[in-house]
Amino acid sequence: MIFKVFKKQELARLYELLAVNIIVGPVAKGNDRNGKPLFDFDVVYDFNDLALDYTQTVHSPKRFVLPYHETLSTFAVARDGWEKHVDLNVYRSLVFFGMHACDINALNKLDLVLAQSAYPNPYYMGKRKNLFIIGLDCTPEPQCFCRSMGTDSAIHGFDLFLTDLGGTYFAEILSATAFDLLNQINCKDPSAKDLRLYKQATSEKNKHYTASVETSDLTKILDLEFESPAWDDWGKKCLSCGTCANVCPTCYCYGVEEHVDLDLKHAGKTRSLHSCNLIDFAKVAGNHNFRPTSASRLKYRYYHKHRGFVEAFEESLCVGCGRCGSACLADITPPEVIASVRGRE
Ligand code: SF4
Ligand code: SF4
Repeated sequence: MIFKVFKKQELARLYELLAVNIIVGPVAKGNDRNGKPLFDFDVVYDFNDLALDYTQTVHSPKRFVLPYHETLSTFAVARDGWEKHVDLNVYRSLVFFGMHACDINALNKLDLVLAQSAYPNPYYMGKRKNLFIIGLDCTPEPQCFCRSMGTDSAIHGFDLFLTDLGGTYFAEILSATAFDLLNQINCKDPSAKDLRLYKQATSEKNKHYTASVETSDLTKILDLEFESPAWDDWGKKCLSCGTCANVCPTCYCYGVEEHVDLDLKHAGKTRSLHSCNLIDFAKVAGNHNFRPTSASRLKYRYYHKHRGFVEAFEESLCVGCGRCGSACLADITPPEVIASVRGRE
């Protein structure tokens, strides 16, 4: 990896160089009922609209590579045959400007399933291959347990990663494009003082973690506790609303629907993201529901993330961003659920 430092005012110049692409970054969206600022990723047209000191966005930038709703194909029927039209919905390259490490790691996890598996998803791949990612270091929020999940720093999956050192940014460079870009602004090799400031910034960040999840032997504990009454207790609280999957940067389950127009000449196939907490998620033909209770569905979500995915990919499908717990109307948080299953109320 190559390291550089540059003055903060150079970041605006970097933005201008990238502005031929669509830039997606954190923007302020208002305040919650307690007056706390709310942020989200959105398309940005002016550098000054970027809220680079954002705490955490309500949603991750997942929707730009894995939209909540997407047309997969359309069909037109004529007298002499029919035509199929497939659009991967990729029109311009995207720049993610200011992603925190947890969200970069979330994309890396999505890649394992949607880009690197036996059946890569072309709709996801098309968008993912056209991404330029600028990471930005953060200060952990009370709900963040990314350190427990090993996702508090990103070591791949970005082009450039910036750490705020006060008047300068410390830049980690991972791609030739990023290297070329930095050559077009005023930057220099880090001095011994910059390295010291960088190390201070990382240890300062570590002081802010308050939430944690005990992950040691978690897959085995989950195997042992499959029948734990804790699942029923959480199931009684769960509203089966699916909000947790909606805000989660790593949830990727979806359903496919086909529609035929009333003229019987046009049809389409669409995909919509789904949630394993929704009542019909495991419903099959014959009206049989494999997971009819909210407890069984909530349990499945935790087993997929912390048991099944670990078995398949040797890592959890959770980056510890804490968004699901913050958004849940029933106050169900992964640290509390996992602690209770472990027998630690
Ligand atoms: S855990 Fe919370 S957010 Fe998720 S489905 Fe249940 S009530 Fe909704
Ligand atoms: S399960 Fe919750 S904490 Fe884990 S990645 Fe998804 S939203 Fe973040």
